[in-house]
Formats: sequence, C-alpha cells, structure tokens
Amino acid sequence: MSKHHLNTRLLHIDSAEFDPQTGIAPVSLPAIRTSTVRFKNLDVLDQAMVRRSQGERVVSYGIAGLDTHRALEEVITTLEGGTYCLLNPSGLASIHLAFMSILKSGDHVLVSDNVYGPVRVMHETLLKKLNIEVTYFSAAHPDPAALIRPNTRLMYVESPGSLLMEMLDLPRLAKIARAHNLVLAIDNTWGAGMLYQPLALGADISVIAGTKYINGHSDVMLGAIVTNREDLARQIHTTQYAVGNSVSADDIWLALRGVKTMAVRLEHHARSALQVCEFLDSHPMVSRIYFPAWEKDPGHALWKRDCLGSNGLLSVSLNCKPEQAKAFVNALELFGIGFSWGGFESLVQWVGPAALEPHSYWQEPGKALIRLHIGLENVEDLVQDLTQALDKIEVS
Ligand SMILES: *Cc1c(COP(=O)(O)O)cnc(C)c1O
Repeated sequence: MSKHHLNTRLLHIDSAEFDPQTGIAPVSLPAIRTSTVRFKNLDVLDQAMVRRSQGERVVSYGIAGLDTHRALEEVITTLEGGTYCLLNPSGLASIHLAFMSILKSGDHVLVSDNVYGPVRVMHETLLKKLNIEVTYFSAAHPDPAALIRPNTRLMYVESPGSLLMEMLDLPRLAKIARAHNLVLAIDNTWGAGMLYQPLALGADISVIAGTKYINGHSDVMLGAIVTNREDLARQIHTTQYAVGNSVSADDIWLALRGVKTMAVRLEHHARSALQVCEFLDSHPMVSRIYFPAWEKDPGHALWKRDCLGSNGLLSVSLNCKPEQAKAFVNALELFGIGFSWGGFESLVQWVGPAALEPHSYWQEPGKALIRLHIGLENVEDLVQDLTQALDKIEVS
C-alpha cells in the first residue's frame, strides 16, 4: 500500500473484512459501539492481557473503542506519518491531554503567541492552578532559546497560527527544542495531516481537531494526538486512561466517512480561496490578506518550503474600523456567522481587537479583521456575495 499516494491510501485503509464463509463484504466498516467487551473464557482474557502488556492494541473495555476507532487511528497515523494515535472527544481535549501528559507542577512551557484562543483560557484556569508557568513568544523572536529556563519542558506552537495564518519556521524551532531536551508539540488542525506534516519537520507531537477538515461536515466534535515517540505515547495513553476521555463510535464512523473525501475537498477549498484572494486584492476596502498560499503573504516562502497544499481558511483586514465591518458581516448571505471552519460551508468570523491584541504578528491596530472560511459553494457566487456585502460598509 505504501507505494501509493496518500490520497489513494486514505481510501483503502479501513474497508470491511470479507465474510470468511461467503467472501462478501460491504465497503465501509460498521460503527461498532460498545461499553462492555466479552471474553469467551478466562484463558482468552489472560492471553489478551499478555498481548496488551507487549504493547498490542488489545481492547478489554469500551473506553478506547474497537475496530471503528482503530480504523480512524490508522487513517490519522497514515496522514500524519506517525506511529501512535490517541483519539479524544474534541480538539481542545487533545491539547489539554498533551499538556497534562507532559507537564507537572513547577514546570514551564513556551507557547507561540499565535495560538488558538482557548489555550490561553486553559492557562488561566488550569495551568495556573497547577503552578505551571507559561511564556508566550513571538515566532519572530530572534532567539527563542533565550526564553528557556531550567524547568522548561514543553514548546507548544501552531503553524499557521490561528486568526492571522502566521507561518512558523518549524524546523528551526525543532532544532532549539531538541538541543534543550524540550518536547515540541504543535496544533496541526490547519494541515489536517495532508497539507503540513509536523512530525517530519521535527515535532514530537501533533495535535489535530478532527472537528474541522478530517470530518469536514460540521457535525462531529473530535480530536487526535499523534506521535512517533513510544515514551510519549505511553505517557499520553496513561493520562488518557486516568482522565477517562472517550469518543462515541458513531462520531468516529462519521469522521471515517468524512475523511474519505478530504483530499478533494481541500483542493477545492484551496482553489476557491485563491480566487477569493485575487478578488479581495483588487478591492479598495481591503488592506491586507492573510493566507500563506497567496504569493503576497509574508509567510509564502515558508509555506512553499514546508506545506504540501492549502485550504479554505483566510483572514482579511479592511480599511475601516472594526465596528464598521459589522455591516459587512451582517450583509453576507452565503457565509454563516460562526466560530468554526473546515466544514463544507462558508463561514465568517468578526474578530474583535481584544482577540488580536496578544498576537504580535498583528500590526494593523485600528483596522477590522475578518476571518473567512471559503466553503465548497460555487466561487463566483461567493465573490458576488462578498462584493455586495463590502458595498454595505460605510466609512466615516
Ligand atoms: C477548532 C480548533 C481547535 C479545537 O477543536 P475543537 O474540536 O473545537 O475543540 C483547536 N485548534 C485549532 C487551531 C482550531 O481551529
């Protein structure tokens, strides 16, 4: 199988087994729901426990799931080029689990200042209580190694970053992390394993919100942690067991179904997003486009070097005050107002100044920032919708 391209392998990973009697099988695996697992006799149970102690994925209870879960773990490790995958009930639950697995009270973490906002909430509400210190750093920091302390254990980053799609030089950060014995973990929700492969670029842990492009249909909450390091996989697995995270087989099944079309969806999202960039670039209301696949984005060179493709997520700053851009958002007809992205549909988010303030990459104070998810609608319809909505802005 590994001789084929990733998008081919993705379609053939988890077909259902043929019935040994009839030689017939459906294409898709069923959703195997379970809490209780039964053993034929105590010998079978003993053998299962021995196999598990040797590191095999042997199930004795429903919490980690059966074949349906195993199939999605295989899909995600294949995508990410990883060895171990742990599924979680949401992307944020995965981030939390990664932090809790690696850190103990008294430790220090370096976090890129472009991270997904709720990471800061986790810091304020949980990490502070556990006496875990956080230093936020800019990707443009000339010497991030200078921020490392004797108790620094983890470097946690996002590339491209949330809201402004800031590209990080991940191989450079990986070199620093390795030299100082830090674990390097990254949020790879943007890349979804297909557009960006952080483990190959030097990260130890990749975290994905499967809620976004993996599932792709805006109807499932899901997360995953992937690593190649057995020691980290063990730590994460032990912590997962201790906190009791579990994902329903029905949600896993929906994600398995959704991910089959991810490669074609991403290509369509990316193509349309570039067309939207071309339109926006020529519009007098537009100040700047934040989209690393767009050749005028300052992250374009890093994107070209490190990414394998792009998607439908972009931000745009407008030549008006944030408040004045609300008329634009309200006038959009095809873009739903919503916080998420990665589904089939177009979405818009009005990003307030308070959310941008912690991002050192934000250099346009006073301007409006709008995040768009370019969905799978006909792109001419989307451009028309953006055109009419931009006309509604009244600049005073
Ligand atoms: C949405 C998102 C998450 C969180 O995923 P949930 O499944 O909604 O918890 C994490 N990181 C990034 C970059 C996201 O956009």
